[in-house]
Amino acid sequence: MSFVKLENVGKTYGSISVLKDLNLRVDKHEVVCLIGPSGCGKSTMLRCINGLESIQAGSIFVGDLEVSSPIVDINAVRRRVGMVFQHFNLFPHMTAIENVMVAQLRVLGRDKRAARDMAFELLSRVGLSKKIDKYPEALSGGEQQRVAIARTLAMSPQALLLDEITSALDPELVGEVLEIVRELANEGMTMLLATHEMSFAREVATRVCFVAEGGIYEEGPAEKILSNPDRPKTQAFLRRLVESHRL
Ligand code: ADP
Ligand code: MG
Repeated sequence: MSFVKLENVGKTYGSISVLKDLNLRVDKHEVVCLIGPSGCGKSTMLRCINGLESIQAGSIFVGDLEVSSPIVDINAVRRRVGMVFQHFNLFPHMTAIENVMVAQLRVLGRDKRAARDMAFELLSRVGLSKKIDKYPEALSGGEQQRVAIARTLAMSPQALLLDEITSALDPELVGEVLEIVRELANEGMTMLLATHEMSFAREVATRVCFVAEGGIYEEGPAEKILSNPDRPKTQAFLRRLVESHRL
């Protein structure tokens, strides 16, 4: 059963058409990787799914909630699908544990003790039990991103949207963040992720979607799309990756 469903979606910025008649479904427990050149619309897709951007045509569903409906409860959508961004966007004046607590207090109305217990459990899970009282500036990029993931998980989302979550990190810090994603995948978390980590896509993706021309240009198992795609733009993209030693 599809958990996230985009049907004939059109998205424009002024006169620029970014998504054109886009169709995409993500089933429960699937890990779908969006790949494609910068500017092809991956972030826009993810942002439309959790209602950060409005669409001009088509419809988007998350479970039984229609995100594209003018009367949707957008907070209900965002509790159901958590999003993690390239830039971690932690509150700089709050410690790690406070960052993971704040939305629990304000959005879910949890009491402070329950929020703290949950935050501690999640920070432990991402390997940061010893750093709960550190401010973001005292944490590495990889640690900050792990706090951001814990913060998103604190909403108990049923699916995650991950937008290039390792691309702002120094290369040696990428692994620790991907390890968390790998664990979430193993636990059956439904995920849609934009990534340029092709080896990671190959390892975790149940499906890889190459984005071009405003939609899913070609999709299939990672092995197929990343080794032997059928269509010319996917082939050209792969050739560029190989030439720049990124595949
Ligand atoms: P990707 O994540 O694949 O790199 P994006 O979704 O960020 O691509 O961008 C897709 C296209 O939409 C790009 O051409 C980009 O310049 C344009 N775009 C993205 N956000 C905005 C915005 N807020 N206003 C105008 N154009 C935008
Ligand atoms: Mg992007």
